[in-house]
Amino acid sequence: MDTPAVTVIGLGPMGRAMAAAYLERGYAVTVWNRTPARADDLVARGARRAATPAAALEANRLAVVSLTDYDALDAVLEQAGGADLAGRTVANLTSDTPRRAREAARRLAERGAAHITGGVQVPPPLIATPGAATYYSGPAEAVEAHRAALEVLTEVDYLGADPGLAALYYQIGMDMFWTSMLSYLHAQAVARANGISAADFLPRARKTLDLGYFLDFYAPRIDAGDHAGDVDRLTMGAASMAHVVHTAADSGVDTGLPEAVLAAFRRGVEAGHGADSLTRLVEVLGPRE
Ligand code: NDP
Repeated sequence: MDTPAVTVIGLGPMGRAMAAAYLERGYAVTVWNRTPARADDLVARGARRAATPAAALEANRLAVVSLTDYDALDAVLEQAGGADLAGRTVANLTSDTPRRAREAARRLAERGAAHITGGVQVPPPLIATPGAATYYSGPAEAVEAHRAALEVLTEVDYLGADPGLAALYYQIGMDMFWTSMLSYLHAQAVARANGISAADFLPRARKTLDLGYFLDFYAPRIDAGDHAGDVDRLTMGAASMAHVVHTAADSGVDTGLPEAVLAAFRRGVEAGHGADSLTRLVEVLGPRE
Protein backbone atom coordinates (compact mmCIF):
# COMPACT_ATOMS: atom_id res chain seq x y z
CA MET A 1 0.00 0.00 0.00
CA ASP A 2 1.21 3.55 -0.76
CA THR A 3 2.47 5.57 2.18
CA PRO A 4 -0.19 8.18 2.99
CA ALA A 5 1.06 11.72 2.56
CA VAL A 6 0.07 15.14 3.84
CA THR A 7 1.37 18.71 3.91
CA VAL A 8 1.22 20.79 7.08
CA ILE A 9 1.51 24.56 6.72
CA GLY A 10 1.91 26.66 9.87
CA LEU A 11 4.00 25.26 12.69
CA GLY A 12 2.82 27.06 15.77
CA PRO A 13 2.09 24.81 18.78
CA MET A 14 -0.99 23.43 16.98
CA GLY A 15 0.59 22.78 13.57
CA ARG A 16 3.62 21.17 15.21
CA ALA A 17 1.37 18.81 17.21
CA MET A 18 -0.48 17.90 14.01
CA ALA A 19 2.67 17.29 11.96
CA ALA A 20 4.05 15.17 14.81
CA ALA A 21 0.83 13.12 14.92
CA TYR A 22 1.13 12.40 11.18
CA LEU A 23 4.79 11.38 11.52
CA GLU A 24 3.83 9.12 14.39
CA ARG A 25 1.23 7.42 12.19
CA GLY A 26 3.74 6.82 9.38
CA TYR A 27 2.62 9.57 7.00
CA ALA A 28 5.05 11.17 4.58
CA VAL A 29 4.84 14.74 5.88
CA THR A 30 5.86 17.89 4.02
CA VAL A 31 6.04 21.04 6.15
CA TRP A 32 6.36 24.76 5.56
CA ASN A 33 6.54 27.56 8.11
CA ARG A 34 7.26 31.28 7.73
CA THR A 35 10.01 30.96 10.34
CA PRO A 36 11.89 27.94 8.98
CA ALA A 37 13.61 27.03 12.26
CA ARG A 38 10.24 25.93 13.73
CA ALA A 39 10.37 22.96 11.34
CA ASP A 40 13.84 21.75 12.43
CA ASP A 41 12.60 19.30 15.03
CA LEU A 42 10.05 17.77 12.65
CA VAL A 43 12.61 17.52 9.86
CA ALA A 44 14.93 15.73 12.26
CA ARG A 45 12.09 13.24 12.81
CA GLY A 46 11.58 12.61 9.10
CA ALA A 47 9.46 15.45 7.75
CA ARG A 48 10.38 17.01 4.42
CA ARG A 49 10.88 20.79 4.42
CA ALA A 50 9.29 22.61 1.47
CA ALA A 51 11.21 25.68 0.29
CA THR A 52 8.09 27.73 -0.47
CA PRO A 53 4.35 27.68 0.28
CA ALA A 54 3.77 26.81 -3.40
CA ALA A 55 6.04 23.76 -3.16
CA ALA A 56 4.29 22.73 0.07
CA LEU A 57 0.82 22.98 -1.48
CA GLU A 58 1.87 21.17 -4.65
CA ALA A 59 3.58 18.34 -2.75
CA ASN A 60 0.35 16.55 -1.74
CA ARG A 61 -3.39 16.25 -2.48
CA LEU A 62 -4.12 17.38 1.08
CA ALA A 63 -2.66 20.35 2.93
CA VAL A 64 -3.56 20.88 6.58
CA VAL A 65 -3.18 24.58 7.38
CA SER A 66 -2.89 25.93 10.93
CA LEU A 67 -2.14 29.64 11.03
CA THR A 68 -2.89 32.47 13.44
CA ASP A 69 -5.77 33.89 11.36
CA TYR A 70 -6.98 34.36 7.81
CA ASP A 71 -4.69 37.37 7.26
CA ALA A 72 -1.87 34.84 7.61
CA LEU A 73 -3.70 32.47 5.25
CA ASP A 74 -4.07 35.27 2.68
CA ALA A 75 -0.34 36.03 2.99
CA VAL A 76 0.58 32.36 2.44
CA LEU A 77 -1.81 31.92 -0.50
CA GLU A 78 -0.50 35.13 -2.08
CA GLN A 79 3.05 33.82 -1.86
CA ALA A 80 1.77 30.64 -3.50
CA GLY A 81 0.07 32.69 -6.24
CA GLY A 82 1.57 30.65 -9.07
CA ALA A 83 0.94 27.24 -7.51
CA ASP A 84 -1.20 24.70 -9.34
CA LEU A 85 -3.95 23.96 -6.84
CA ALA A 86 -6.36 22.16 -9.16
CA GLY A 87 -7.82 19.07 -7.52
CA ARG A 88 -6.13 19.75 -4.20
CA THR A 89 -7.79 20.12 -0.81
CA VAL A 90 -6.89 22.64 1.85
CA ALA A 91 -8.09 21.59 5.31
CA ASN A 92 -7.89 24.97 6.93
CA LEU A 93 -7.85 24.58 10.71
CA THR A 94 -7.07 28.25 11.23
CA SER A 95 -9.69 30.02 13.30
CA ASP A 96 -11.43 33.18 12.13
CA THR A 97 -14.94 34.39 11.27
CA PRO A 98 -17.55 32.50 9.20
CA ARG A 99 -17.44 35.33 6.65
CA ARG A 100 -13.72 34.93 6.10
CA ALA A 101 -14.05 31.15 5.85
CA ARG A 102 -16.63 31.58 3.08
CA GLU A 103 -14.38 34.07 1.25
CA ALA A 104 -11.37 31.74 1.48
CA ALA A 105 -13.45 28.83 0.16
CA ARG A 106 -14.60 30.97 -2.77
CA ARG A 107 -11.06 32.07 -3.62
CA LEU A 108 -9.69 28.53 -3.46
CA ALA A 109 -12.58 27.23 -5.57
CA GLU A 110 -11.59 29.77 -8.24
CA ARG A 111 -8.18 28.07 -8.29
CA GLY A 112 -9.76 24.62 -8.56
CA ALA A 113 -9.10 23.62 -4.96
CA ALA A 114 -11.53 22.47 -2.25
CA HIS A 115 -11.51 24.28 1.09
CA ILE A 116 -12.53 22.40 4.21
CA THR A 117 -13.03 24.70 7.20
CA GLY A 118 -11.99 23.25 10.54
CA GLY A 119 -12.35 24.41 14.13
CA VAL A 120 -10.22 22.38 16.51
CA GLN A 121 -11.80 21.98 19.93
CA VAL A 122 -8.76 20.87 21.91
CA PRO A 123 -5.34 22.32 22.79
CA PRO A 124 -2.20 20.96 21.05
CA PRO A 125 -1.35 18.31 23.70
CA LEU A 126 -4.73 16.64 23.13
CA ILE A 127 -4.28 16.26 19.34
CA ALA A 128 -4.51 12.54 18.43
CA THR A 129 -5.95 11.59 21.83
CA PRO A 130 -9.34 9.88 22.36
CA GLY A 131 -12.35 12.19 22.57
CA ALA A 132 -10.68 15.12 20.79
CA ALA A 133 -12.91 16.57 18.08
CA THR A 134 -12.88 19.19 15.33
CA TYR A 135 -15.82 20.94 13.67
CA TYR A 136 -15.65 20.61 9.90
CA SER A 137 -17.69 22.10 7.08
CA GLY A 138 -17.30 22.36 3.33
CA PRO A 139 -17.77 19.94 0.43
CA ALA A 140 -18.81 16.53 1.82
CA GLU A 141 -16.91 14.70 -0.91
CA ALA A 142 -13.63 16.42 0.06
CA VAL A 143 -14.19 15.59 3.74
CA GLU A 144 -14.95 11.96 2.88
CA ALA A 145 -11.95 11.70 0.52
CA HIS A 146 -9.63 12.82 3.32
CA ARG A 147 -11.49 11.48 6.35
CA ALA A 148 -8.75 9.00 7.28
CA ALA A 149 -6.13 11.77 7.35
CA LEU A 150 -8.39 14.14 9.30
CA GLU A 151 -9.14 11.38 11.82
CA VAL A 152 -5.44 11.02 12.59
CA LEU A 153 -5.79 14.40 14.34
CA THR A 154 -9.21 14.20 16.01
CA GLU A 155 -12.73 12.91 15.53
CA VAL A 156 -14.54 14.57 12.63
CA ASP A 157 -17.71 16.51 13.55
CA TYR A 158 -19.02 17.32 10.06
CA LEU A 159 -21.64 20.08 10.10
CA GLY A 160 -22.53 20.63 6.45
CA ALA A 161 -21.50 22.14 3.12
CA ASP A 162 -21.50 25.83 4.12
CA PRO A 163 -17.81 26.69 4.70
CA GLY A 164 -18.86 29.21 7.36
CA LEU A 165 -20.54 26.62 9.60
CA ALA A 166 -17.44 25.15 11.24
CA ALA A 167 -16.15 28.65 11.95
CA LEU A 168 -19.52 29.64 13.40
CA TYR A 169 -19.74 26.65 15.75
CA TYR A 170 -16.13 27.25 16.74
CA GLN A 171 -16.77 30.94 17.52
CA ILE A 172 -19.91 30.32 19.60
CA GLY A 173 -17.84 27.82 21.56
CA MET A 174 -15.07 30.37 22.02
CA ASP A 175 -17.69 32.94 23.07
CA MET A 176 -18.44 30.70 26.06
CA PHE A 177 -14.89 29.49 26.61
CA TRP A 178 -13.12 32.86 26.88
CA THR A 179 -15.81 34.53 28.99
CA SER A 180 -15.96 31.49 31.28
CA MET A 181 -12.18 31.44 31.60
CA LEU A 182 -12.13 35.17 32.38
CA SER A 183 -14.88 34.68 34.97
CA TYR A 184 -12.70 31.97 36.54
CA LEU A 185 -9.66 34.27 36.57
CA HIS A 186 -11.72 37.12 37.99
CA ALA A 187 -13.11 34.91 40.77
CA GLN A 188 -9.55 33.72 41.34
CA ALA A 189 -8.42 37.33 41.80
CA VAL A 190 -11.16 37.90 44.40
CA ALA A 191 -10.21 34.60 46.09
CA ARG A 192 -6.53 35.54 46.20
CA ALA A 193 -7.27 39.03 47.52
CA ASN A 194 -8.99 37.25 50.41
CA GLY A 195 -6.23 34.72 51.07
CA ILE A 196 -7.86 31.74 49.31
CA SER A 197 -5.39 29.71 47.24
CA ALA A 198 -6.08 28.36 43.75
CA ALA A 199 -5.75 24.82 45.16
CA ASP A 200 -8.38 25.50 47.84
CA PHE A 201 -10.73 27.09 45.30
CA LEU A 202 -10.20 24.33 42.68
CA PRO A 203 -12.81 21.70 43.73
CA ARG A 204 -15.40 24.44 44.35
CA ALA A 205 -14.63 26.17 41.05
CA ARG A 206 -14.98 22.85 39.17
CA LYS A 207 -18.39 22.30 40.74
CA THR A 208 -19.62 25.82 39.95
CA LEU A 209 -18.47 25.66 36.32
CA ASP A 210 -20.14 22.26 35.81
CA LEU A 211 -23.06 23.93 34.04
CA GLY A 212 -24.48 20.84 32.32
CA TYR A 213 -27.63 20.76 34.42
CA PHE A 214 -28.48 24.36 33.50
CA LEU A 215 -27.73 23.93 29.78
CA ASP A 216 -29.95 20.82 29.62
CA PHE A 217 -32.74 22.55 31.54
CA TYR A 218 -32.77 25.80 29.58
CA ALA A 219 -32.10 24.63 25.98
CA PRO A 220 -35.64 23.32 25.25
CA ARG A 221 -37.17 26.37 26.92
CA ILE A 222 -35.04 28.72 24.80
CA ASP A 223 -36.06 26.89 21.60
CA ALA A 224 -39.73 27.08 22.70
CA GLY A 225 -39.47 30.79 23.57
CA ASP A 226 -40.54 29.87 27.10
CA HIS A 227 -38.97 32.37 29.51
CA ALA A 228 -41.23 31.67 32.50
CA GLY A 229 -39.77 32.98 35.75
CA ASP A 230 -40.75 29.87 37.68
CA VAL A 231 -37.28 28.85 38.84
CA ASP A 232 -35.27 32.05 38.39
CA ARG A 233 -36.08 35.69 37.73
CA LEU A 234 -34.00 38.44 36.14
CA THR A 235 -34.56 40.67 39.19
CA MET A 236 -32.96 37.94 41.33
CA GLY A 237 -30.04 37.70 38.87
CA ALA A 238 -29.52 41.48 38.93
CA ALA A 239 -29.56 41.58 42.75
CA SER A 240 -27.12 38.64 42.91
CA MET A 241 -24.78 40.23 40.36
CA ALA A 242 -24.77 43.48 42.35
CA HIS A 243 -23.48 41.47 45.34
CA VAL A 244 -20.69 40.07 43.14
CA VAL A 245 -19.72 43.60 42.01
CA HIS A 246 -19.67 44.85 45.61
CA THR A 247 -17.63 41.87 46.84
CA ALA A 248 -15.05 42.44 44.08
CA ALA A 249 -14.92 46.18 44.85
CA ASP A 250 -14.53 45.53 48.61
CA SER A 251 -11.65 43.16 47.72
CA GLY A 252 -9.87 45.80 45.63
CA VAL A 253 -10.45 43.77 42.43
CA ASP A 254 -11.40 45.24 39.04
CA THR A 255 -15.20 45.25 38.59
CA GLY A 256 -15.40 45.62 34.79
CA LEU A 257 -16.48 42.05 34.09
CA PRO A 258 -19.22 41.66 36.74
CA GLU A 259 -20.43 45.19 35.95
CA ALA A 260 -20.88 44.22 32.30
CA VAL A 261 -22.96 41.20 33.41
CA LEU A 262 -24.98 43.37 35.80
CA ALA A 263 -25.61 45.90 33.00
CA ALA A 264 -27.00 43.13 30.75
CA PHE A 265 -29.30 41.88 33.53
CA ARG A 266 -30.51 45.44 34.20
CA ARG A 267 -31.21 45.97 30.49
CA GLY A 268 -33.55 43.01 30.67
CA VAL A 269 -35.25 44.32 33.81
CA GLU A 270 -35.59 47.84 32.35
CA ALA A 271 -37.17 46.37 29.20
CA GLY A 272 -39.95 45.03 31.44
CA HIS A 273 -38.72 41.41 31.82
CA GLY A 274 -37.77 41.45 35.50
CA ALA A 275 -40.22 38.65 36.35
CA ASP A 276 -38.94 36.44 33.48
CA SER A 277 -36.16 33.86 33.56
CA LEU A 278 -32.67 35.07 32.72
CA THR A 279 -33.04 33.18 29.42
CA ARG A 280 -35.03 36.22 28.25
CA LEU A 281 -31.60 37.80 27.72
CA VAL A 282 -31.14 35.69 24.58
CA GLU A 283 -33.81 37.91 23.02
CA VAL A 284 -32.72 41.12 24.77
CA LEU A 285 -29.13 40.71 23.55
CA GLY A 286 -30.01 39.39 20.09
CA PRO A 287 -30.74 41.27 16.89
CA ARG A 288 -34.08 43.05 16.79
CA GLU A 289 -36.77 40.98 15.04
P1 NDP B 1 0.11 30.53 16.55
O1 NDP B 1 -0.47 31.86 16.33
O2 NDP B 1 1.06 30.31 17.66
O3 NDP B 1 0.91 29.99 15.24
C1 NDP B 1 0.36 29.91 14.01
C2 NDP B 1 1.32 29.94 12.86
O4 NDP B 1 0.89 31.05 12.04
C3 NDP B 1 2.81 30.10 13.09
O5 NDP B 1 3.44 29.05 12.39
C4 NDP B 1 3.14 31.45 12.42
O6 NDP B 1 4.37 31.48 11.76
C5 NDP B 1 2.05 31.53 11.39
N1 NDP B 1 1.81 32.88 10.89
C6 NDP B 1 1.27 33.94 11.55
N2 NDP B 1 1.20 35.01 10.72
C7 NDP B 1 1.70 34.60 9.53
C8 NDP B 1 1.88 35.25 8.28
N3 NDP B 1 1.51 36.53 8.09
N4 NDP B 1 2.40 34.53 7.27
C9 NDP B 1 2.76 33.24 7.44
N5 NDP B 1 2.62 32.57 8.60
C10 NDP B 1 2.08 33.25 9.63
O7 NDP B 1 -1.14 29.58 16.66
P2 NDP B 1 -1.36 28.08 17.21
O8 NDP B 1 -0.42 27.15 16.58
O9 NDP B 1 -1.51 28.07 18.69
O10 NDP B 1 -2.83 27.85 16.62
C11 NDP B 1 -3.08 27.78 15.23
C12 NDP B 1 -4.56 27.92 14.97
O11 NDP B 1 -5.26 26.90 15.71
C13 NDP B 1 -5.13 29.27 15.41
O12 NDP B 1 -6.07 29.71 14.45
C14 NDP B 1 -5.80 28.96 16.74
O13 NDP B 1 -6.91 29.81 16.99
C15 NDP B 1 -6.26 27.52 16.51
N6 NDP B 1 -6.40 26.77 17.76
C16 NDP B 1 -5.38 26.83 18.68
C17 NDP B 1 -5.51 26.19 19.89
C18 NDP B 1 -4.40 26.26 20.91
O14 NDP B 1 -4.67 25.90 22.06
N7 NDP B 1 -3.20 26.65 20.54
C19 NDP B 1 -6.73 25.42 20.23
C20 NDP B 1 -7.69 25.35 19.15
C21 NDP B 1 -7.52 26.03 17.97
P3 NDP B 1 5.75 31.88 12.52
O15 NDP B 1 6.22 30.62 13.20
O16 NDP B 1 6.65 32.33 11.43
O17 NDP B 1 5.40 33.00 13.49
